[in-house]
Amino acid sequence: MAGQGPSGLEVLLSTLENSNDIEGNLNIINVLDELLSAGTDRRIHYMISKGGSEALLRALLNTASTLLPNYTVLLPLLHLLAKVGHRDKKIGLKAEKLEAVLPVLNLLRKNLKNPKRAAACLWVLAVFSSWVSTATLLGKNGALDIVFKLIRPHTKKHTRTIKAAIDALAALFNSRSNSRCAVTRGYISALLRLYEDWQKNDTDNRHIPIRQALLHCLHHATCTPSARRILVEDGGIATLFQTTQACLAIRGLDSLGTSALQLIRKCYPKCPVPLTSDQSVYSFPLPGNPTPGLDTAPSPDDDSFEDESDEDIKNDELDKEEDDDLETDLTKLRYKPEPDRPLEELMQYERLCPELHHDFQELDSGSEGEASSDDDGLVCGDFGSRPRYNDGGRSANQMLGHSGTPGAFHGSCTSAESLESFQEETRAPSQEGGHGSAEAQLNARDFHSQYLSNGRARQEGPSMVDRLLEKHGACIPHHNPQLYTTAAANTKSIAGYSVLAFPDFWGHLPPPYRQPMTERKEGIQRKKIFEDVQRLLQPEEVIDKVVFDLENPSSQTSSEDPGSLRFYSQFESGNLRKAVQVRSYEYDLLLNADVNCSQHHQWFYFEVSGMKAGVPYRFNIVNCEKSNSQFNYGMQPLLYSVREALEGQPHWLRTGSEICYYRNHFCQSSASSRGQKATSYYTLTFTIIFKHNEDVCYLAYHYPYTYSALQTHLQLLQQSVDPCKVFFQKQTLCTSMAGNPCPLITITACPVSRSWEHLHQLRNRPCIVLTARVHPGESNASWVMKGTMEFLCSNDPVAESLRETYIFKIIPMLNADGVINGTHRCSLSGEDLNRQWLKPNASLNPTIYHTKGFLYYLNSIGRAPLVFCDYHGHSRKKNVFLYGCSVKETLWQSGSPINTATLKEEPGYRTLSKVLDRIAPAFAFNSCSFLVEKSRESTARVVVWREMGVLRSYTMESTYNGCDQGIYKGLQIGTQELEEMGLNLCQSLMSLKKNTLVYSKKLISHASALLDLDDNLLDHKSHSSFEDDEPPCAEEIEYQTEDCWELCFQELDAEVNANAANSEEEKEEDQGDIHLDIPKNGLLAPDRKPSRNQTLSQQSSLETFNINRSAVN
Ligand SMILES: [Zn+2]
Repeated sequence: MAGQGPSGLEVLLSTLENSNDIEGNLNIINVLDELLSAGTDRRIHYMISKGGSEALLRALLNTASTLLPNYTVLLPLLHLLAKVGHRDKKIGLKAEKLEAVLPVLNLLRKNLKNPKRAAACLWVLAVFSSWVSTATLLGKNGALDIVFKLIRPHTKKHTRTIKAAIDALAALFNSRSNSRCAVTRGYISALLRLYEDWQKNDTDNRHIPIRQALLHCLHHATCTPSARRILVEDGGIATLFQTTQACLAIRGLDSLGTSALQLIRKCYPKCPVPLTSDQSVYSFPLPGNPTPGLDTAPSPDDDSFEDESDEDIKNDELDKEEDDDLETDLTKLRYKPEPDRPLEELMQYERLCPELHHDFQELDSGSEGEASSDDDGLVCGDFGSRPRYNDGGRSANQMLGHSGTPGAFHGSCTSAESLESFQEETRAPSQEGGHGSAEAQLNARDFHSQYLSNGRARQEGPSMVDRLLEKHGACIPHHNPQLYTTAAANTKSIAGYSVLAFPDFWGHLPPPYRQPMTERKEGIQRKKIFEDVQRLLQPEEVIDKVVFDLENPSSQTSSEDPGSLRFYSQFESGNLRKAVQVRSYEYDLLLNADVNCSQHHQWFYFEVSGMKAGVPYRFNIVNCEKSNSQFNYGMQPLLYSVREALEGQPHWLRTGSEICYYRNHFCQSSASSRGQKATSYYTLTFTIIFKHNEDVCYLAYHYPYTYSALQTHLQLLQQSVDPCKVFFQKQTLCTSMAGNPCPLITITACPVSRSWEHLHQLRNRPCIVLTARVHPGESNASWVMKGTMEFLCSNDPVAESLRETYIFKIIPMLNADGVINGTHRCSLSGEDLNRQWLKPNASLNPTIYHTKGFLYYLNSIGRAPLVFCDYHGHSRKKNVFLYGCSVKETLWQSGSPINTATLKEEPGYRTLSKVLDRIAPAFAFNSCSFLVEKSRESTARVVVWREMGVLRSYTMESTYNGCDQGIYKGLQIGTQELEEMGLNLCQSLMSLKKNTLVYSKKLISHASALLDLDDNLLDHKSHSSFEDDEPPCAEEIEYQTEDCWELCFQELDAEVNANAANSEEEKEEDQGDIHLDIPKNGLLAPDRKPSRNQTLSQQSSLETFNINRSAVN
């Protein structure tokens, strides 16, 4: 194609549009058709790029405008135009500009009695109508009626033309004004009747494409609420449902069943969720804003809003820039050294660097000093009348005599023995309750009132819980049930929780085996949706009984009803708002929105009891918001069985079958009343078969990790370190809005001596700042942080070296209030705290305000952190990965014209991710990104990078699901793997330690792999950070967009070719099944080869498409 002057193709096209030589034009059309049919679509796109569409349109105008058009040329021209136009997104626009739209409509009018010509016109009109305004123009000129009249009830004649008319009508409905006409002119009902007729009479399934086209047409026609209403009122749902059931039985009818189901789902009347309000049940009065109700507007990245608008979809959205979220403003990519507050305010944070001012006198005396004491004394609450401050933790523990005593484990007895003793324990209270049964059962309500009331309500003397623990308690590292109870007593929740969830109290051990991701059964989503649709078709079978309601406990049915499960969620991190029994073994569950908010339904954690063993129970969480979920890709929810725990198996296990996640028919309860677009919700459905009768079980989105668990853990961690070696200090950064202390932990090595040299070394260690759990639903982040903190306090030589090298500042739970109150994303102010870093408000976002202040303070004393990392969980991706910040990568990726060669950027920001890729099994470098997005300008990562000048500022994202690479490939992630990730992150910090001495031999061997790494390698391409990395789900039902056109290139080509090949129209009916034989590879069926008089030989490839001028003329 290189060289001077026009290419052969351009010469052909120019000849075609300018010449009136019939024979010559016919030859050119034939050549073009042959060339385009033989190769891939690339040829057609090349031709389009060379003005092919315009040339064909002009040639069409020339030919059609004559008084008696010559159909010998016109028909092949229309055929070619249909094929080319089908691949040209802007064909309609081009036709409009050249005023070629209405001439084609007129041609159709003239040829209504000639099926072959009519079909050719219809295909061209259909491709024109892909452009919305062209469809509107055609509609205004009467196209709808003309086309509609060509659609006939079941017949064996002219089926190709009928199909072309249906396809054209469907395309015309791209215009909303045309689809509104569909309602006023009764097309919806008529099309439904036509569909029924074909469905009924096409008994030998010869005309599946016509039935399919009718469904497609109905799909397009029902883009307005009134159209959908008519379809439902006409009994369309039942008709379509019968189709889907019939199609299930016959192979080859799959696509028809899928289309029918899609249409059902589209038209299924939206139903508000059965809640009085979308607002959270919990509200929290905000400082300076007496009436809570900061109902947040939908976030811009929320893609869950259905398009209900009356606007036409703009075609130019097709050309939308992909990377328009990347920051390209250099001033926003540069270090901004001025703090957002007066310098004198920063002095308050001096106290948070006790290691810099500590004199380590105890090193001289050899006694245990204050170095590892808890300066705030907030860990341990009232435990009897014991003192709270200073040595509270240790004394409480000494009293309990439990700390680290392996002897506390009694779980080794046989299950039968264990169960028996458990039943012994439970008998008394249930008899007191007046319903003693021969076989004492684990009753959730008794369980709460008798055993697990937290510290505030504790009774005198050894409780049932103490005795249970003594008998069955497991020795769980870094966990202690009594300490947990004490910590929970000091935890402030909005609802004033007084009950502990058993798994948090008792603790859990990782399961003895790793759990693979589940395989998704084929057709599972369709099965679930059929069951949902049956609710509408057979309402008499729906029980619709409220069995749990957080707002209105009195509306619940009696907890003694043996036919229903019992639910409970009023404990720390609990989230379940309502449970409705739909059928005998099926429950709809509704999650509570975040506090002071009406959104973010994702995290769940609740108790269920009263089950029968061995029965499949279906649970549907019906108010999920995200448009896709890892539950579609092998992830399972978590189950904890109290009975199993008492039998020595205290495990959270991935459980559940028939799991899928799809858009449902529910919408916000109040959207209609506010006249807003209704958010449509998604269902997470899973089926669980419980192992034991009348067990008490807990179900959760992910391994729970409560604020009380953190407090317990910190206390035990503090007790575990040798205060002469490890400087471990727990302080309070600030209190949360609800008054819960936000802990800040300092971990470093104590100096070897009080010599100036040693103290100087300590005071010059670089800082590493780690934070987690700004998003409460991301409990995986807490497990990673647990791994980090335990490793840093351990005797591992790498940990020792890290302590000697760095000072670690850890804020393990930035959003304690959210964690406590079971929110998913926000704080009590209803705000996403990781979007407040630019201008945090001291009273509304205290933890962010003070974390930022503390970082400013470190910066102001020349100690800006070497690394900042904020731990998160990622709900839509697998593996663990980092997001960082790079000016150069951002500018490159955005295609910015700024010359990056002159910009200086240290490449060290990639080091940690490269090291982690080698040493951390769950980590995947390929998922990392170092791009700065505008929408993330107020996140910790970007603000700390820009305002504190921290080169290595990261968000670390951990999957909720599992890994698709490395040794954990195909496995779901557990707490052990998450903790290991936290440990690996610490290990990777060794790689930043190049110029310091390596202390021990063992360490050298351990670290040598880490140190031998090239910082400058840029061999992996950065990904755009936040895209969904999963392909659309195998079952595409809810992902498929409105327009199915691009799927039917081959179908249209085949039909056009058949129309061209078949010279005798009377024979058309015999060609009815040609559609079923379309070869998969898109090549033409051999029997179709045209019997055309070819005067020019076929060129074998585009490369030989250079025909010189003389050959044509
Ligand atoms: Zn997050």
